[in-house]
This record gives sequence, C-alpha cells and structure tokens, in this order.
Amino acid sequence: MVEITTVRLAPTVKSTQTGPLVAAEISEAEEFWVKQVHREHFDFEITHLNRGQQIPAASRIWSLAPYLQEGLLCVKGRLEQSELTQEEKHPILLPRSKYTDLLILHEHNRGFHLSVIATLSRLRERFWIPKGRQSVKSVLKSCLVCCKYSAKPARQQTGQLPQDRVVACTPFTTVGTYFTGAITVKTTGGALQKVYIVLFTCAVTRAVHLEVVSDMSVKNFIMSLRRVLARRGCVKVFYSDNAKTF
Ligand SMILES: [Zn+2]
Repeated sequence: MVEITTVRLAPTVKSTQTGPLVAAEISEAEEFWVKQVHREHFDFEITHLNRGQQIPAASRIWSLAPYLQEGLLCVKGRLEQSELTQEEKHPILLPRSKYTDLLILHEHNRGFHLSVIATLSRLRERFWIPKGRQSVKSVLKSCLVCCKYSAKPARQQTGQLPQDRVVACTPFTTVGTYFTGAITVKTTGGALQKVYIVLFTCAVTRAVHLEVVSDMSVKNFIMSLRRVLARRGCVKVFYSDNAKTF
C-alpha cells in the first residue's frame, strides 16, 4: 500500500518514476497515511493545536500530552531526559485503524513472524499505539502462518484395552517382546562390542524381563526365549512386531 501510494501520491519528493523506490519516497508515503489517520481520528485535537490552544481535558488523548511536529501528532512521553533518539522519546500517535493494522502485520512479517511483545517493541521505536498490546494481539490472530504453527494437535478418545491387558492372571502369561537399539559395551579384553537387549514385558502387570544378546539373530533370540520360559514359566500369548527375528 505504501509503495503504491509512493508512486501515485508523493508529489513533493523528486520521484525517479522508474526503477526501485527511494527511501524518501517511502517515508513520505508513510507520512501521508499517518496524517490521513490523524485527520480521521483527531481532527478536533489537531484544530486546537493548530490554533495554539490546549487540548480540552475531555479529549481521550489529553493524558498523552500530544503536540504537533511537522504536521504529525506526537506523544510527549516521560523520556525527555533519556539518551534515546528523538523518534523514540516522542513517538507518533497512531490510533487503531486499517492502516495501523497493516503496519502491525508488516512489522510482524518483517521480523519473520515475531511474537506480540517483539512486534510491539519494534512498533514503539516510532509509534505509540494506545492499547498497543491488545491491538497487536488481535491483529496477529489473523496471521495464517502463525495460526498454522501454533495450532494444537487434534484430540481423540482412546479405545478400550484388549482382554489380555486387563484380566488378572499369572505374571508373564501374555508377553510383549521387542529389541532395543544397539548398545556399545567394553569386553573383558577392553575391546568395544555391540550388544542388544531383548525386552519381555508382561501385558497385565507391566513387569519387565531383560535379556542381553550379542546380535539379533534367530538363534540368539530363541536362546533368550528359553531363558525367559525357564525363569518365568509358561507364556500363553506372545505379541511382537514383524521383525525378521520373530
Ligand atoms: Zn505470523
């Protein structure tokens, strides 16, 4: 919008007409829109200030002690003694309007989807938006990119547990089995060797039995299984994934 305004409405800056826009052109277009917003919202106050009169105490911006600087309504603020720049000490007053909303969105996008606080902080380097946090928050709600990234995952109700999991029985009657990833261990000689753990878990009590094997071969698995059966008794049901070993 600012760029279009620059081309069409910036009459005082010597426009290059062709090629990229220059900073002065953009800055004048911005000023044009801010003045437009001021005229729309603070015509009464600007008229008083132009006449050299005080703003009536009934005005909603009276507490901000605004004054005119180069035709723009600025906030007096309380930072006169600070070392900030003139723009930061006396930001331009900008009420909530379509232009303000677009400006908020522009700053938010320019900073690669900044948070509410960060967007507001950037804006406050130049502008004072009454109820700023609230305004920024409500504008950023409409940012599609942020909506996608902050969306919460869908919730769903979990299904019923199978009978094997809930009917009381001797431990290790129903067993789930799985291999862990490789674990590196040091042998007696000091050499490093990969080993695996076969995990046997009781479906009802959730008790766990671990067996260390040197590889994931069928032979080693059968040997570990025999050790489990010898120690835990007869297993009626086995659950496993479709790994080749099983
Ligand atoms: Zn965003």
